[in-house]
Amino acid sequence: RPQSAGDVIELLGKRGIQIVDLKFTDLPGLWQHFSITLPEVHPGLFDAGIGFDGSSIRGFQEIHESDMLLRPDPATAFVDPICGTPTLSMICDVVDPVLRQPYSRDPRYVAKKAENYLRQTGIATTCYFGPELEFFIFDSIRFGQEQHCGFYYVESAEGDWTTGRDEGAYGGGNLGYKARYKEGYFPVPPQDTLQEIRSEIALTLQHAGVQVEVHHHEVATAGQNEIDMRFATLTRMADNVMIYKYICKNIARRHGKVATFMPKPLFADNASGMHCHQSLWNDEQNLFYDAGGWALTSETCRWYIGGLLQHAPALMAFCAPSTNSYKRLVPGYEAPVNLAMSQRNRSAAARIPMYSDSPSARRVEFRCPDPSANAYLAFAAMLMAGIDGIENKIDPGPPLDRNIYDLPPEEAKNIRQVPGSLEASLAALEADNAFLRKGDVFTEDIVETWIDYKRKREIDPIKLRPHPWEFYLYFDI
Ligand code: GLN
Ligand code: MG
Ligand code: MG
Ligand code: MG
Repeated sequence: RPQSAGDVIELLGKRGIQIVDLKFTDLPGLWQHFSITLPEVHPGLFDAGIGFDGSSIRGFQEIHESDMLLRPDPATAFVDPICGTPTLSMICDVVDPVLRQPYSRDPRYVAKKAENYLRQTGIATTCYFGPELEFFIFDSIRFGQEQHCGFYYVESAEGDWTTGRDEGAYGGGNLGYKARYKEGYFPVPPQDTLQEIRSEIALTLQHAGVQVEVHHHEVATAGQNEIDMRFATLTRMADNVMIYKYICKNIARRHGKVATFMPKPLFADNASGMHCHQSLWNDEQNLFYDAGGWALTSETCRWYIGGLLQHAPALMAFCAPSTNSYKRLVPGYEAPVNLAMSQRNRSAAARIPMYSDSPSARRVEFRCPDPSANAYLAFAAMLMAGIDGIENKIDPGPPLDRNIYDLPPEEAKNIRQVPGSLEASLAALEADNAFLRKGDVFTEDIVETWIDYKRKREIDPIKLRPHPWEFYLYFDI
């Protein structure tokens, strides 16, 4: 990847680029963009920026109704594999043209501030993130309205829940000689119908400069996928998450399908998480490793976990930021419900993966986040919670390595649980945000705007609409 404005300009000629696309992230976490022609690309673009109308960008507009500037980051440039016209895409920082300063509601700015704050504390030089994004690919025609809420799910004779998702293939006899849905975790094709699409996504990501390690079908009955990227530093990884979603959605579309990062699109099946592996490093030294510690972790690592667990309810406002997120965080689907740490227990919020005992592999996997998060804000918030844990030596509590169902009820009831709704998480964030406000990483304005946006634009409109399941329950009352 290029490092400077000069490198980018050189790349334009070398790769026969005809269009340059400028991308940035709105407050909820979706990419926005516009394109410029080659005469507009000159070194000044990278310093002064280029103007756009910021008044219709979600989460930006209320206080800022006029012009904004985008300043492309040369190190993010990639030949855009989705565009037919030779196009160079760059991720941009948003600049306030009046103050001539980074815009305080630009999520990417928050991520950069969090990394700078980490260095300022002297705790570590580098924070690595490795998110595991899961997502569904559906046939765009068949994914009907009814499926969103499981309206067609019927109770089978055996008393368990099966679906009317397709005529006959699953439940109710095979009238059409169809293969059953995949079921299970890892079956090969033809049960796994998405192998080729995932391979195409993985290779396209590599072409865009995002390193991929693994791809596989996920646990859900049909259509759930995971493609894992190699870990990277915080802001770079949030950039990669944006590229990842963009490429998944566009490759699925090329196949007449649709990719969704909505956490829980299907009732009674596994949901999509975005487990986040994280570790702190001082140059080449992993600060989370200690050969003598529990699960080979250092005290610093366990304090970091203590911070994540203590602040988890508030963190969830950024890490599980949709009303749908809380339909995922229920027992029985490998999503976390217990605010505890563990080596193996997948119902625990923080897990220490034990696949390798090498010092560089030591990390914490925080399992609460899901892919509806704005990665810039979620990663920054987790780092700030971890830093607070280290600064205050927060004890994460005893590891929850036993099956929680085997615990005596007196013990089980002492384990804190994840919040049950977005409303509860926002209330927790309102009450607990000093750890985010340190170093002005999250300004008071961005915390307030986030809470207000989520309440007014998401929670209230859902509350006002009669739910299809209410018709099932109450129509004949
Ligand atoms: N889908 C599960 C979740 O929601 C995770 C499944 C897995 O990766 N083991 O977190
Ligand atoms: Mg995984
Ligand atoms: Mg997974
Ligand atoms: Mg995982």
